[in-house]
Amino acid sequence: MAGICRLTAIATSIRTCKAFGGAPACPLAKRANNEKGNAKKRAVSSLIYIHLDDTSLTTHTRPHRLPPSRDTTHANTHTHTLITTSAIMATGAVDARRLQRETHHEADVVVVGAGVFGCAAAYSLAEQGRSVLLLERWMREPDRIVGELLQPGGIQALKKLGLGHCVENIDSITCRGYNVLYQGRPVLIPYPTMDEYGGVPHQWSGAGKEGKREIGKGFHHGRFITRLREACLAHPNITVRETEVVRTVRGEHSDHVLGVETRTTDPETKVKTPDYFFGQLTIIADGYDSKFRKEVTDEKPVARSRFYALELTDADLPAPGYGHVIIGDAYPILLYQIGTHETRALFDVPYDIPEAAPAAGGVRNYLENHAIPALPKSVQPTAREALENSKLRTMPNSWLPSTQQVPRGMVVLGDAINMRHPLTGAGMTVAFNDAVLLAELLHPDRVPTLADDAAVQAALRALYWRRKNYTAILNVLAQALYALFAAHDPQLHALRMGCFEYFRRGITDGPCGMLGGIIHRPVVLAYHFFSVAFLGIWMHFLEIITSGPGPLGVLKAPLAVIDAVLILAKACVVFLPLIWREGFR
Ligand SMILES: Cc1cc2nc3c(=O)[nH]c(=O)nc-3n(C[C@H](O)[C@H](O)[C@H](O)COP(=O)(O)OP(=O)(O)OC[C@H]3O[C@@H](n4cnc5c(N)ncnc54)[C@H](O)[C@@H]3O)c2cc1C
Repeated sequence: MAGICRLTAIATSIRTCKAFGGAPACPLAKRANNEKGNAKKRAVSSLIYIHLDDTSLTTHTRPHRLPPSRDTTHANTHTHTLITTSAIMATGAVDARRLQRETHHEADVVVVGAGVFGCAAAYSLAEQGRSVLLLERWMREPDRIVGELLQPGGIQALKKLGLGHCVENIDSITCRGYNVLYQGRPVLIPYPTMDEYGGVPHQWSGAGKEGKREIGKGFHHGRFITRLREACLAHPNITVRETEVVRTVRGEHSDHVLGVETRTTDPETKVKTPDYFFGQLTIIADGYDSKFRKEVTDEKPVARSRFYALELTDADLPAPGYGHVIIGDAYPILLYQIGTHETRALFDVPYDIPEAAPAAGGVRNYLENHAIPALPKSVQPTAREALENSKLRTMPNSWLPSTQQVPRGMVVLGDAINMRHPLTGAGMTVAFNDAVLLAELLHPDRVPTLADDAAVQAALRALYWRRKNYTAILNVLAQALYALFAAHDPQLHALRMGCFEYFRRGITDGPCGMLGGIIHRPVVLAYHFFSVAFLGIWMHFLEIITSGPGPLGVLKAPLAVIDAVLILAKACVVFLPLIWREGFR
């Protein structure tokens, strides 16, 4: 009976639509109508669409460029409508929505980029019952040097998204915290102990001895992304398409984004065919080199250095199970295991340093003669072997503070809108926490239809402010630590010494809880940063007054006071602009 009613409703609305010249009944259709003028020029046919949502069945006409190959049998409006209708009867709403995505390229949400953020966002929205089109230019397993260490806060978010299994069965390696080596001297900073409520009891000072500790995971980026994509491919509410998005499609009379235009490459002929995908909301997650960022912000990423990457085989790490940060004798170097036998080495190389200038032998010279000698002795042979025998790969280390957007059918998220130096391995943790928050704010209970611009805008405004609880910490920490660890001037040098001494004195749960993305209170970051600054000032003071012959060093106390002011001023110069850009802007 229900089926008959639904069918009658469909038939009636088709008649109504036809009688009124196909006037669209739903908001999406209204937007589509605006686009009609433009799209007509491109379209090769005009179809009647059955538009399904949770509560109603309506139809509208939309100029439609037929998707390549598969859909050409549906060119006739009549045939097409019949096929769609019988499919609904046979397989129910889920299959009808799949058909809607696969045949007509129309969904609630179009997600551009099946990378870290795109997969997480697509999956979480699909879990809430949204119909999702996920578009990715290259579906083959990525081979990249990014996103290989997921912090505990990222693992927690991944589990909340229902994707926790994606770090399993990929030969992932447990990471328990960091081993920081400053001029060869090590200090271990494990991830903090947690209380039964998931809080960090020693976040202000010291370190817990006993209790549960969260863990991070190291893995091959490509394997992890493949697992995320598999989860999306298996989801009944998601259709994944391998196609390259080339532009957004906007309405003729408004700048509202209706969807995207793409180029789909035929795997056999390699011929590229234009395609169109439409959604009530388009989420752009096309990564660090985003083509679409400029549509929502004038900000451009700033990079002062690049990471050069080697993959070491069977490296003998001083503290297995920990990420290693090597500072003091060279620009920062990271080492962490990404597989049973593989360790990633990332060497920070600032632009324009003389040691890496072409005349000096380029980056290879810097690595061979400056960076590798700074590594622990046990690691150096495998690093030299990798430098000799494998390709040196590189990525820019970008900083891009996030911008508030006024989404009109489109929002840009992930690295495309917000990046920090990868020194602290925070990008994926930010992305997964963003996906959790986005899904919460766009939940159908709050925003029943994504065509409701006002509700979507309110949700994304809330996202911009609420995400600062974790992004402000992770982004500022990454930039501030990089400033300290790559320091050359004497004040930053004093701050770096203070930082190392801070860890050495056992104040590690707070700093490592923030690094791990477990602590979400920016005030904890401010507290530890300035505690480090005062400790650095004190250490520097002691160094000066004990440097003279016998007690005469005390005579240098005025000099030490001047230095103290300069160090504090430098700490403010490093920290305050960052916290302003990240926290309050
Ligand atoms: C050197 C380096 C090391 C890093 N290491 C870590 C780490 O250890 N831990 C960590 O948490 N973070 C790390 N990061 C950061 C992390 O990799 C990023 O924050 C994360 O990958 C961002 O996810 P995303 O989804 O925004 O972008 P991506 O993961 O880059 O995904 C973008 C996707 O969009 C696709 N795409 C792009 N353009 C188009 C188009 N026109 N049409 C269709 N598809 C398109 C791409 O193919 C890709 O699949 C590192 C970054 C760098 C630079």
